Amino acid sequence: MSSIKHNLERINLQIVDTAVSCGRRPDAVKLIAVSKKKNVKTVLEAINKGALHLGENYIQEAIEKINIIGKDKACWHFIGHLQSNKAKFAVKYFEYIHTVGTLKLAKEIDKQAKKIKKIQKILVQVNIGDEETKSGAGINDAIQLVKEVSRFENLSLQGLMCMPPFFPDPEHARIYFKQLAQLKEKIIAKKFDNVSMEHLSMGMSNDFKVAIEEGSTMVRVGTSIFGRRD
Ligand SMILES: *Cc1c(COP(=O)(O)O)cnc(C)c1O
Repeated sequence: MSSIKHNLERINLQIVDTAVSCGRRPDAVKLIAVSKKKNVKTVLEAINKGALHLGENYIQEAIEKINIIGKDKACWHFIGHLQSNKAKFAVKYFEYIHTVGTLKLAKEIDKQAKKIKKIQKILVQVNIGDEETKSGAGINDAIQLVKEVSRFENLSLQGLMCMPPFFPDPEHARIYFKQLAQLKEKIIAKKFDNVSMEHLSMGMSNDFKVAIEEGSTMVRVGTSIFGRRD
């Protein structure tokens, strides 16, 4: 059995086990296979072995791969840092954009989506650890950003995304996942029109189990599926 197949099966089982043991429906958690820096052959193998959701970080690299593989072969998620001048491509190729952290970017995505008559699904990225090196809205600005985003006709806000600081012990990430889940509840209580908080995109190879325990609906797993990146 190929290691990608084996890894996908193992992680899917771990997702189900973790969800069930904390009383959540296992089908409420989607596995996004993060294929950045992996070649077309490897991505195709993952799709053929059952990966339904693929996550990419770099626009140019993603375009090249998706043009060969086909947009309809998987659900594509953009999870990298997005510059406004690349928004057009993200809108053209991706079903979800997880990394909307500024009004400027939201506005540009809305504009590009309008041009091709698309309602673009997005998540607001929150810089939950308040790290200077990471993008995303600050936790205190996120509600205002959600409110502003809700007014764009060609955006469909689906939830929140975060990437906490890395800890060797995933238990240390729990507090950040909890904070994102609390922010989600605060936003739900505001009852903004045109805002769904269905998704929490949180958890990576090292900490996805903890993230699921704290309410993640989309775990983004790269290394544990594809091995280390060069
Ligand atoms: C690379 C990346 C991941 C996957 O990380 P792994 O530790 O390899 O599972 C998840 N989310 C984002 C935003 C990433 O850039």
